[in-house]
Amino acid sequence: MDTSSVLSGLNETQKAAVLHRGAPLLILAGAGSGKTRVITIKIAHLIAQGVDPRSILAVTFTNKAANEMRERAAQLHPGASQAMIRTFHSFGAWLLRRNAAAVGLPREFSIYDDDDQVSLLGTLYPQYTKQVVKGYARAISRAKDFGLTPEDDLSPVGSDSEFPQIYRTYTDNLRKIGNVDFGDLILLPQQLLAGNAAIGGRIRDRFRIVLVDEYQDSNIAQYKLLQSLTDSYSYVCVVGDDDQSIYRFRGAEVRNIIDFPEHFPGTDIVRLEQNYRSTGSILQVAHAVVSRNQGRLGKQLWTENPDGSPPVIAHLFDQDQEVEYCTEVLMQGSPGETAILYRTNAQSRAFETAFLRGGIPYRIVGTLRFYEREEVKDAIALLRFTANPRDPISLARIINKPARGIGKKSVEKILERAGDGDLLQAMRAAIPHLTTRSGGAVEKCRGMLQDIIGDLGAGKHELLSDLLHAALMASGLWQYHREQDEVAGLQKIQNLEELENAAGMYPATTDGLIEFLEAIELDSGAQQDAGEDAVTLITMHNTKGLEFDRVIITGMDEGIFPRESDLDPDSLEEERRLFYVAVTRARKELHMTTTRMRRVHGRIVDTSPSRFLYEIPRDLVEFAGAYSPGHGSPAGGSFGSPGGSPAGSDPAAADNSPYPRGCGVYHDDYGSGRVVRSDIKDGELVVLVQFETGRTARFLPAYSPLERI
Ligand code: ATP
Ligand code: MG
Repeated sequence: MDTSSVLSGLNETQKAAVLHRGAPLLILAGAGSGKTRVITIKIAHLIAQGVDPRSILAVTFTNKAANEMRERAAQLHPGASQAMIRTFHSFGAWLLRRNAAAVGLPREFSIYDDDDQVSLLGTLYPQYTKQVVKGYARAISRAKDFGLTPEDDLSPVGSDSEFPQIYRTYTDNLRKIGNVDFGDLILLPQQLLAGNAAIGGRIRDRFRIVLVDEYQDSNIAQYKLLQSLTDSYSYVCVVGDDDQSIYRFRGAEVRNIIDFPEHFPGTDIVRLEQNYRSTGSILQVAHAVVSRNQGRLGKQLWTENPDGSPPVIAHLFDQDQEVEYCTEVLMQGSPGETAILYRTNAQSRAFETAFLRGGIPYRIVGTLRFYEREEVKDAIALLRFTANPRDPISLARIINKPARGIGKKSVEKILERAGDGDLLQAMRAAIPHLTTRSGGAVEKCRGMLQDIIGDLGAGKHELLSDLLHAALMASGLWQYHREQDEVAGLQKIQNLEELENAAGMYPATTDGLIEFLEAIELDSGAQQDAGEDAVTLITMHNTKGLEFDRVIITGMDEGIFPRESDLDPDSLEEERRLFYVAVTRARKELHMTTTRMRRVHGRIVDTSPSRFLYEIPRDLVEFAGAYSPGHGSPAGGSFGSPGGSPAGSDPAAADNSPYPRGCGVYHDDYGSGRVVRSDIKDGELVVLVQFETGRTARFLPAYSPLERI
């Protein structure tokens, strides 16, 4: 098969990289310069040259990337379907299954996830609190990222003198059970290849060609695996971009790519400098931002692409306007070629809600839809039960979560006694029929639920967000999910906070609760097929390697992105690299949005534009939104004058309600405040006001003494 036509679609440097043989090769190049394309074509070209596809191993960062690479390579040469194209972990699992006996594992071993790891440690160390156990679980994962066994010097992971023994006991027991954890999928193959000459030799002979994409995000253990996989007869080629290293928090080690020439002596380095993905102006923005970082190798990308339309920074009032802005942008072109990016998963909620209501198809990449996420479902079950203590499904979900010592049998006994009546009473009635221990646990849980319901009835809380927060704390669900976050970095708490934000729009009354639950039910029930033309909702981390015609980077506010305002310099540089990754996903059009206020913990707080926006020279961008500098208003507080006074423009002109968003109001009981939202509901004007005291309240101005000031 002739791949010369494929080669002719490459520039000279790319071609040289594809044709390169012999010494180890490092392709060090910026975003969109064709790194992934070079690897893919290299696979096809090698096969076309007569190389056995089974001798090629290509490692990518995600399964999705692996699938795409396999498909594209197979389009170029059908033989590529026989090459091994996998993630590091999936390759490790493959290797272990085939050589299970040699590492003392049964062939059918299972792979423990983070939860399983914690349970095992918990049974080994019942004297420790869950918190402590989770800390050790995390340390074990970190040690494995560094490629460290219990026998190694574990000081890079921590100085706890008990840790080595705990790590050893955990490992011994895991082996006894015959299972492995995620870290083992890298560590065990590495030990096998390095320690077992026969198997190591055989595998190195089989995979003569090893290619790695996104090498900047490999960890030390993966580097060691790469080394044990190769010898002086292997051909090794890694590609990556130090500016796109964004997984340090998971143990990624950017030094792997920087030190590659030392690790693999005789390395040839190829730099690809032409960007094919983005317009000139998008690249200029990307460069302006990333060049602020200190610790980088430094690359300058150029492009022959036209400058295109200037990137837009939209200064908006609040999240509702942000969603409106994104919707408008979507409608101007094809939603299927548009991606909405955000820093944390929880930020998807506002978009999902609006798109579901507006019938706009969307697809979420890398996670579940907001209302399908475990912690969100738990919180909703708790609220549903509060609204209706006859709901057995909701009770069953939360009665023993977190574990309270109420077993399945006890739950059955309670439900038997309920008929279709009040489950709180059924809980009480079941107690005499339970053991003292579970009876006590049931009574405690009943009391907790009773209190939440009582607080709702007594009007203890003002906003539903407060009630929800108190309920999550009292039920232990908050702590439960926070611990999970600490082990696995899952952002569950952010999702709960975002649900609280949504609840903050409702009063903590029975009606408010029912209205909120109804709105959620309608949203989560609205099924839709995300067809070809669905807009993509995605976190910045998940966009690695992807590209879209239009990209909207949302939530560019201090404290959201960068995620905290007072980050240490290294973490700030990592956030900036993440911004670079986000910007460079765009082919033709780039938008960045920032808002003046945002709901945080159910309250409206003033926000200021992300410092990253100030790092973009103003002549590279255009501004949009009522709060942008030069929009006929003093640019106070917004972009262009950091720290300026928050004197604002009056968006009244854009809004024809007598109480438009942002306008100042005065209420006899509450004092002065600002309108956050203004809607017509059932023919009545309803306005939501944030008062200077921090309180939020909804009014029907027709009936309440609300004055505009
Ligand atoms: P990232 O760092 O974001 O992973 P990358 O360096 O892997 O980017 P690719 O995804 O391989 O870049 O390429 C970016 C885009 O440019 C793709 O759409 C690719 O098809 C296109 N491209 C790459 N090289 C060429 C070329 N020589 N001619 C035309 N298009 C090209
Ligand atoms: Mg790539």
